[in-house]
Amino acid sequence: MAQTTTVAALAASVNARERSAREIAQAALADAAARDGAIGAFLALNEDVTLAWAESIDARISAGEQLPLAGVPVAIKDNLALAGTRTTCGSKMLENWVAPYTATAVERVLRAGGVPFGKTNLDEFAMGSSCENSALGVTRNPLHLERVPGGSSGGSAAAVAADLTPLSLGSDTGGSIREPAAFCGIVGLKPTYGRVSRYGLIAFASSLDQIGPFGRSVADVALLYDAIAGKDPRDATSVDRPAEATSVFTRQDLRGMRIGIVSEFGLDALEPSVRAVYEAAYADLLRLGAELVDVTLPTARYALATYYLLAPAEASSNLARFDGIRYGLRVAGDDVGDLYEKTRAAGFGPEVKRRILIGTHALSSGYYDAYYVKAQKARTLIAADFAKAFQACDIIASPAASTTAFAFQAKKDPYSMYLMDYYTIPISLAGLPSLSQPCGFAPDPLDGTPMPLGLQLAAPLFEERRLLEVARVFEAR
Ligand code: GLN
Repeated sequence: MAQTTTVAALAASVNARERSAREIAQAALADAAARDGAIGAFLALNEDVTLAWAESIDARISAGEQLPLAGVPVAIKDNLALAGTRTTCGSKMLENWVAPYTATAVERVLRAGGVPFGKTNLDEFAMGSSCENSALGVTRNPLHLERVPGGSSGGSAAAVAADLTPLSLGSDTGGSIREPAAFCGIVGLKPTYGRVSRYGLIAFASSLDQIGPFGRSVADVALLYDAIAGKDPRDATSVDRPAEATSVFTRQDLRGMRIGIVSEFGLDALEPSVRAVYEAAYADLLRLGAELVDVTLPTARYALATYYLLAPAEASSNLARFDGIRYGLRVAGDDVGDLYEKTRAAGFGPEVKRRILIGTHALSSGYYDAYYVKAQKARTLIAADFAKAFQACDIIASPAASTTAFAFQAKKDPYSMYLMDYYTIPISLAGLPSLSQPCGFAPDPLDGTPMPLGLQLAAPLFEERRLLEVARVFEAR
């Protein structure tokens, strides 16, 4: 929508009736229709729904309401249900499935005056780190069309980075907000597990899934986070804690703030040009008044192995419902067993099938204790390591990813794709709030194009406010 204003300024102009939500939505739709072809951030624009919602916001403004996100377009990852529109999860299985209800997070966007705008591409069922696992389209990194946008929320990140929308929603199970935010040079926040209702989020790994915002700045992201956070009776895992407004910033510097640098996340293995950016970022934190302290997470090295047992185990169970009877795709068979088999063989892509196989194996009797139970124990130890580290520091800083956005087809071996989550997954297992924000550029290894890198910050459980305050000071440096 080629608008470079802040979310607060855009909402203020709608609240003051200088612009209407409808006019903004129309401009955003026209802009996406014209420019998204080259990027592929959106799977659908849903023009009629978007305009109807915009009109409902205008009606509320006319009736005297003042709304924090008045008229602000918010793109929605296509694993979030939106009544009356297709919610595909990037899968052939749900390609034509029309959601009968709307996710709580999306309803809260509307309640705050935001206009849900289009559905964005993702790795199938949110499994992946590049968007290449989507069965329904290719998404390109707006900063370099021959590079991936990251994943799994690649479409939501690309839509913001391309300035097609000021805000978007994604979901993060093991890094799916933070890694694409890093690759696309924007801010992405994964709230504490339980902070945002997952009602209407199609489940991948239920003990890890969390919804969160993308935006161009920390302040923009904080406004959307404030709108969506909070208890929801329809999601029993959502936590009943008053969510304090994070979008009011008071801190000018980082004095008194102890920032933990994890010794296991040393920068030595990184490309020198990447490493230099992170060294400079840490030096900036110091210059802003923070004290840098070394912390250790001895069990973090088991995090990837732990996650890649637990997440597939939960996925194998969650995805059992896609059987050709109740939802989505159905391929006829000779009997019901044959129908299940043919539907699932045709409906799921290779990565989803791999996860279902791994997960089913890990949960099978005879292997359950050796794999699933052991992974749960490792998860407990990893969370305990973080709790201990946070006795010595207030925030943990690290890279969000080890490289800039990679080329399409560069990670054909699944294990190399899984390694992209090296820095994000330990935090996910511990349920902590975490974000990625731009911290500099490094030359693309193949053609030298300057590409963004993300600084990842993590805070103790429910300390989103602290996290965003620190990020905001860093951003303003
Ligand atoms: N890349 C990780 C995976 O493939 C994380 C995905 C996510 O956070 N949804 O599982």
